[in-house]
Amino acid sequence: MSLVAPQGIPHEPDIVIIGAGPAGLTAAIYASRSGLSSVVLEKAIPGGQVSITPMVENWPGEKNIPGARLMEMMTAQAREYTDIRENEAVKNIKIGRKMEVMTNKRAYSARALIFATGAEHLKLGVPGEEKFLGRGVSYCATCDGFLYKDRSVLVAGGGNSALTDALYLVSLGARVTVVHRREELRAEKRLQDLFARTESPILFDTVVEEILGAAHVESARLRNLKADTAYQMPVDGVFIAIGETPASDIAKEIGVLVDTEGFIKVDRSMRTNIPRVYACGDVTGGVRQIVTAVGTGAVAALSAFEDLENPYWKKKLE
Ligand code: NAP
Repeated sequence: MSLVAPQGIPHEPDIVIIGAGPAGLTAAIYASRSGLSSVVLEKAIPGGQVSITPMVENWPGEKNIPGARLMEMMTAQAREYTDIRENEAVKNIKIGRKMEVMTNKRAYSARALIFATGAEHLKLGVPGEEKFLGRGVSYCATCDGFLYKDRSVLVAGGGNSALTDALYLVSLGARVTVVHRREELRAEKRLQDLFARTESPILFDTVVEEILGAAHVESARLRNLKADTAYQMPVDGVFIAIGETPASDIAKEIGVLVDTEGFIKVDRSMRTNIPRVYACGDVTGGVRQIVTAVGTGAVAALSAFEDLENPYWKKKLE
């Protein structure tokens, strides 16, 4: 039984790609160039997390480029090949000879599915984090950083995201303190060196225990884990960049296997455990870089092409 489309007959592309970040957009480009039609379903707007990355310095060919600009270019190129449907969230999927995908707007019936759903920000889970969201607490330096010129902010986290955000905030004129729960950073050396040059402090072995204020963030209670002492620090903002959790719920619902952290399990061809269902990009874990997202997006699309079209070179190998 087909899912009923709010607008009548389901659309029937060869592949439905879920997610319009670098992985999904690249999968669409490669699928189309192989002769397969595709639709990219994006619950918000195209670009994924790169769109809110202030500056990208490791995309080969561009010494440095704002994340939003890079994704505008990638999206424009992908639009030459595929139909990107924005603000269209997947609600339900039924696996079968045809993959039935129902969104908040319509239904699709495809021969294959590619999950390129990415990952979402992790939360600290401390008092005040939710209360002050949008009033001093932020997960997006690119979006909210401009409010903090000449003001004091904490950046929680020790990875590449935390230092990228911290550098961006410094460049906007904010007084930045990084708070990291360990005695050393996880971020790559280049970012550590750049941040050291700003002479901004890093509080090692320290966690944010509570975010405090009246209408807006006014301070944070920090705890030094080694000394086991807590103290209050006046701040105007708290930027949280402590990693990501994979957006794999819908995949799990249809029986796609995930690892202990929820990342979709794939083989080296980006095939999941379900035939004609593939995954690529951050939702599959690993090093989670833009270059790996686009690489795995291409591999997923080419695997789909091999499975759907059974080209002569594949037959020879069998
Ligand atoms: P990440 O590499 O997982 O780092 C998360 C950081 O937050 C770690 O230092 C972690 O501490 C800390 N953390 C996690 N949970 C915490 C908690 N509850 N309280 C306090 N601290 C906590 O995440 P990311 O920095 O967001 O990066 C995600 C992926 O995107 C990575 O693969 C990264 O390489 C990539 N990325 C790359 C770039 C770039 O290449 N320039 C920029 C941004 C992101 P521990 O170290 O103790 O675990």
